[in-house]
Amino acid sequence: MLALPFTFYQATRRLNSQTMKITGIETLVCHARMRNWVFVKVLTDQPGLYGWGEGTLEWHTRAVVGAIEDIAQLIVGEDPRRIEHLWQMMYRQHFWHGHGIIRCTAISAIDIALWDIAGKIAGLPCSQLWGGPVRDYVRTYCHLGGGNMEDFYETTVEDARVFGDLARQAVENGFTAFKSMAVPPTMPIEGLRPVKLAAAAVASMREAVGEAIDIMVDCHARPSPAMGLQFGKALEPFGLYFFEEPCWPESVDGLAMINAAITTPVATGERVTELTAFRELFARRACEICQLDITHCGGLSAARRIAALADAYRIAIAPHNPQGPVSTAASLEFGFSQPSYIICETVNADVPWRGDVVSEGFTVEPKGRLVRPNTRPGLGIEINEQEVRKHPFEQELLQRVFYPDGSVGDW
Ligand SMILES: [Mg+2]
Repeated sequence: MLALPFTFYQATRRLNSQTMKITGIETLVCHARMRNWVFVKVLTDQPGLYGWGEGTLEWHTRAVVGAIEDIAQLIVGEDPRRIEHLWQMMYRQHFWHGHGIIRCTAISAIDIALWDIAGKIAGLPCSQLWGGPVRDYVRTYCHLGGGNMEDFYETTVEDARVFGDLARQAVENGFTAFKSMAVPPTMPIEGLRPVKLAAAAVASMREAVGEAIDIMVDCHARPSPAMGLQFGKALEPFGLYFFEEPCWPESVDGLAMINAAITTPVATGERVTELTAFRELFARRACEICQLDITHCGGLSAARRIAALADAYRIAIAPHNPQGPVSTAASLEFGFSQPSYIICETVNADVPWRGDVVSEGFTVEPKGRLVRPNTRPGLGIEINEQEVRKHPFEQELLQRVFYPDGSVGDW
């Protein structure tokens, strides 16, 4: 049985009350095959008023759940309307700053839920709290296979034809843009073969869908800067929409070198959690597209700061979002409020019951996969807790990479 929505009438009435308190923070883990979605529910002392957040971090589920429990003691009893104040407490108190990936993911989940609460109190979608909507629709893209694990992560570049088939399928499903993993793991230096294979896979996709469709390639930070440059040069003739993580995110010099050497725009940022690290990426022109992850970078509060910083460099925003439905709703609300937001990453076929665990306030047009604005307050979503409980935590599937000589590679 779902709780009744917190209506605008209730909200107006409650606003007269001087006090409002967070009474608890619950986590709900939902095993979605490759990932365990970590949903967070921030409860308040106001009847029917709570917020949903998400802090999904594959292979680190228990750590994030524990970190949320640790942070809860800082903010239970506090006023949920003081979002920035609570963010500062979560990030700066207890000595350790909150930019490590585990704690920053926990902070993000809670922060997203606090914005959901703020929207419910105001009776407005979150994007309207931030001055939106700034556009009529948000464009979306899919992963090859809709995010089905085998199609997206396990199609190898040896089979260029499969890339073409999956690309055609994405377009048949209404998408005008999709992402592939057409760059194989390589040792720091390898010869021509992997580069030729990557080019053949991308050629197959381009041939299948024509020039009106946008193709993205995610290198998953597998290559060294030297190999990333070779892949980038080889794929340049295919006019990719963006070229993602062509080398380790820590290698800002490598990213900047590749971004300067090719016309294809470089995208990165999904593993970055500190405002100062984003500033370094931007100032050294290491990317043209910032893929901040709202569920890892410090939530919507931090995402808004990062986007403002990106604006100063005229760098576009395309949040990383292969996670669950709360993350998607957060990315869309953000997209309707940020002028530099270009496209929303989506996954729709990771598990067949994805639609059962959530009710969403936005609509997706099947042709073009354009999203029209959410009209419900907050993030506009409701999580069906009974459905979530049908999919309890399971250890994530191992996804490891070793080079042919047995040494460790990057997934
Ligand atoms: Mg990526």
